Order: sequence, then C-alpha cells, then structure tokens
Amino acid sequence: MNPISDADVIVVGAGPGGSAAAARLALSGRRVLLLEAATFPRDKVCGDVLLPEIDALLAAIRTDLRTLAPDARCLGGCVYTAPGGQRITGEMRDAHGIVRPWRILPRLVFDHRLAEHACRCGAQLREEHRVVEVEWEAERARNVVHIRTPGGTATLTAPIVIGADGATSRVARSRGLRPSAADRSANLCVALRTYVPWTDSQPSFEVITDHALGAGCCWIVPGPDGRANVGIGLVDPGRESRAGSLHAHLERVLGGRVDFTQASSPAGWQLPFGDLRRRATADGLLLVGDAAGFIDPFTGHGIHTAIHSGLLAARAAEEALATGDVRASAPPFRAYERAWKRRFGRDFLLGRWLQWTMRRAHASPWMIELIVNRAAHNRRWADRFMGLVGHALPKTHILHPGFLLDFIRSDAAWRRRRQVA
Ligand SMILES: Cc1cc2nc3c(=O)[nH]c(=O)nc-3n(C[C@H](O)[C@H](O)[C@H](O)COP(=O)(O)OP(=O)(O)OC[C@H]3O[C@@H](n4cnc5c(N)ncnc54)[C@H](O)[C@@H]3O)c2cc1C
Repeated sequence: MNPISDADVIVVGAGPGGSAAAARLALSGRRVLLLEAATFPRDKVCGDVLLPEIDALLAAIRTDLRTLAPDARCLGGCVYTAPGGQRITGEMRDAHGIVRPWRILPRLVFDHRLAEHACRCGAQLREEHRVVEVEWEAERARNVVHIRTPGGTATLTAPIVIGADGATSRVARSRGLRPSAADRSANLCVALRTYVPWTDSQPSFEVITDHALGAGCCWIVPGPDGRANVGIGLVDPGRESRAGSLHAHLERVLGGRVDFTQASSPAGWQLPFGDLRRRATADGLLLVGDAAGFIDPFTGHGIHTAIHSGLLAARAAEEALATGDVRASAPPFRAYERAWKRRFGRDFLLGRWLQWTMRRAHASPWMIELIVNRAAHNRRWADRFMGLVGHALPKTHILHPGFLLDFIRSDAAWRRRRQVA
C-alpha cells in the first residue's frame, strides 16, 4: 500500500526550472507542491536575457514568450570589445542568416509570471516555505521534506522531490549530490550585477573584455524599463572574486560610460557550470537547473537549460510514479541522467573548451587578435561570432570542417586586401 503523502511530487524552488517542472506535472494531473523560500515578485541576480529557444520549450507547458514577456526588449545585435580595445559589431544570426534576437526582461517580472502560470496549470505554490533538509525513508519509499516558514517549522512528504533550488541547493547538499569543493571551484563563475539608468535606444547589448578579466567579462544589457542591467563575471574564483574586487573591476572597465552613483545596490551570485561528471539523481530525487549545475560554461546562460531540465525531470517523475518505482536505479531516473547529458553535453564540453581557449588566448594574444581581426573586417564573421555568443549558432558549428576552411580562406583574402590597400 502507498504511504499517505502530501503530494505526488514536491518541487523545491520556483525559479524557471521549478516552475516549468511543476507546470508540466500538474498538466499531467499530478498533485504538485511548489515550495519557494521567497515571496513573489522576487529578484534573481541575472543578465535578464531570455534566449529564443525558450519559446519552443514553453510550448510543453502551453505558453510562450509572447504571453509571458510581451513587454520585453528585443536585442538582435552585440558589440564586443576585445581585450586590446578593438570593437566588433554584429548580429546574432543563425546558420540560415536569420537574426535570432534576445528578449530582455528583469527576472523580478519573468519568474513571477512563470510561477503564476504553473499555478494556473494546477500546481500549488507555497511562498515563504524554505526547505532546510530532505531525508529519504527507504522502507517507505518517500522523501521527508523539512521546512521553515514564518509560522515555524513543518514537515511534508512525497515519493518524489525535484530539487530546483538554485546554485546553493539545500536539496542537493542534504542528499549528498553537491560536488566536492575542488570540483565546485573548477566549475564556477562569480558575478556581480546592478541596474543603471539607460536612455540609449541601441538594439544591441555589449560584452566588454580586457586582459585583467581573463576569460571573464563585463556586460551592458539595455532593458525595457529605462535601465540597463550591468555586471561582471569572473571565471577564476579566488581573491579576485570577492565582491569588493568585482566592483572595483566593474568601475574600472565601465566607469567612463556608466554613472555608478545612480546604480542600484550591486548584488552578487554564482554560476555553476555544466559538468558531465555530476549526478543529478538519487532515490526519489531529481535535480534540475542550477541545483544540478546546468549553466553553459561559455556564455553563462542557464534559464533555457533550467526549463529544459525541468521538463525532462517532470517526464521522468511522471513515468516513475506510473510504475511505482522511484529509486535512482529505476529506468526513468536512469533515462533522466542520459537525457540531460545528451541534450546539454555537447554545449558543456565545447563551452568549457571555448572558455579554456579564451583563458589561453590571454597568454597568447595572437589567438584573440586573429579572431578579432577576422570579425572586425568581415561582416559575415562578425555575425558568426555573435551568433555563437548569442546561442543563435550551435557550438557544434565550429567543428564543421567547412568552418575552419572558410576561416583560413577568408584570412588569406583579408591579407591580400590589406596588401593592396
Ligand atoms: C550574474 C548572473 C547573470 C546571469 N545571466 C543570465 C542570462 O542573462 N540568461 C540566462 O539564461 N541565464 C543567466 N544566468 C543564469 C541563470 O540565472 C540561472 O541559470 C537560472 O536562474 C537557473 O534557474 P533555476 O530555476 O535552476 O534556479 P533559480 O533561478 O536560482 O531559482 C531557484 C529558486 O529556488 C528558491 N530557493 C532557494 N533555496 C530554497 C530553499 N531552500 N527552499 C525553497 N526555495 C528555495 C529561490 O528563492 C529561487 O526562487 C545568470 C546568472 C548570474 C549569477
């Protein structure tokens, strides 16, 4: 006989990953509790970029970006400042040459709307419910979820928990799925973000690099509300990544262009990069989004993978509930481990390689100069470069033999043109 549970599935964290998983399961008729530590609307430190691929994912929970983000600002272009100060302007074009614009909407707004949508699908959202621990009772095959609320502590139970509680996941920690300190710091970016008044109507965002930032960067992302999201991310954690150092770098790089006296107070957070060695399941438990470290190591984007993994986890939970076996060894849990690796694995591997190349390139500047020169003098290469940065072109594009051949050919053509000039 099944033990009495408070829900079929308890989803911890109502960010994009948790709301997507809760919505999908509720649409399948499951009883879903969505526990959220904060009260909506709540901020989330982010660049506020919604990638176009999110649209197709949202179809699985019967919504889209036109509905959830009608007031977002669309940006199709990017201005990249190379470490040597050279600026490249391009558009984020896909392999067919079509511009795939980003939508910019503060997470304060987007996450609230997505959580509301999950409720409309049938999930029960409980705000100010902070999960402090998740225990697994093997003999009863259920999770015991310990919660702190403003009214005191409480306990809830469910056969399946989906951990969507972000980069510092309590769920992952309490079930032994947090990576070692060494693995965490090898796969981490630390970041600082603020908002500044911004009246420029430019249709592009900016990425600014310099040698002191290594493989990190600063950004200016104009938003829809007369402000720009401005921030910095550093890939090598250590002394340099303390909030004070990050802020000093930000002011050094952008101080001439941004009035920091008018800025909102800066907020820091971390980005756990995708690592194929990680486990995202345990008995009765599936991790999604940042809780599993599903952020793209090259671009730092993770909203799309949070939603995608939320949907994959919902499918696994649904199948496991149908068979009654919720152990990590059950086929749906094993299928989830395979599915996220299949969907995100290439991006994680190539993203890491590109990140490594950027780091090396600072030691050997000719590498960056070669790429920058190509993009600065050739519109097609500028768009390709921006397409990769903006997720309009899949990273696998660079593995195509034609890509390298084209690069070598255009290099020869550029050198000929330069000689003639
Ligand atoms: C500076 C910065 C810039 C970024 N820019 C971008 C960008 O522009 N585009 C992009 O795609 N990605 C970006 N990312 C990554 C992106 O923010 C994350 O990948 C994404 O938010 C992951 O979603 P999630 O649902 O897994 O977790 P989160 O969005 O972190 O949501 C977790 C939720 O869980 C709740 N929670 C936490 N602990 C508990 C608990 N114990 N109990 C209950 N609830 C809990 C939190 O309050 C939160 O609501 C950026 C990240 C950073 C740090």
